[in-house]
Amino acid sequence: MTPRPFKPKEELLSILKETRRLLENMKPSRSISNSKLEQLEPIRRQALVCRACRLAKERTHVVFGEGSLDAKLVFIGEGPGRSEDLQGRPFVGQAGILLTKIIQAMGLQREQVYIANVVKCRPPMNRPPEPDEVAACSGYLKAQLSTIQPKIICALGRTAATALLGSQAPMNQLRGKTFQWEGIPLIVTFHPAYLLRNPAAKPQVWEDMQRILPLLKP
Ligand code: SF4
Repeated sequence: MTPRPFKPKEELLSILKETRRLLENMKPSRSISNSKLEQLEPIRRQALVCRACRLAKERTHVVFGEGSLDAKLVFIGEGPGRSEDLQGRPFVGQAGILLTKIIQAMGLQREQVYIANVVKCRPPMNRPPEPDEVAACSGYLKAQLSTIQPKIICALGRTAATALLGSQAPMNQLRGKTFQWEGIPLIVTFHPAYLLRNPAAKPQVWEDMQRILPLLKP
């Protein structure tokens, strides 16, 4: 076989072409969470200035929700309390500390899950949100869940369960079952604020979390 004549210019061009191809392949592909962020960010911005219901009047901050947009597990509570309203973040008061401990006991970090509420503005005196307020805010919650597409949704308390399932059933009929929200499994457990008032219910919540864990496996 006759050796190929050495042509420095062509060799250089070929090396440059190959380097370019390798660099192209090294470019990170657009992550799932980036496209989810693009989808959810305009909705979050819309919520931050929303005045669609009477809860807008007394709020300090809109508490949209936080966490990983690639979360396998999403917790949905009732509405922001005082600390949440002041900080603009969900579950940061005493109930939030307890929720974080529950998440950690499941072997997860808070940053790995997504946490939001049925209504994004604090109801006065922490009263439960009225049905018309839940309805006015439902588009934001639906957008969050539809965008994140978690493997499982955990409804914290009856208000969240009612908002997501449309069921008026009491907690003793909601716990221990697996429901579906638009094809996503949904489990109902007690709200952490209830646990602060009724610590004896902690083992029941742990039972509910034990039912969630196998559903998170790949
Ligand atoms: S609670 Fe929801 S619907 Fe009502 S003002 Fe706040 S963001 Fe808008």
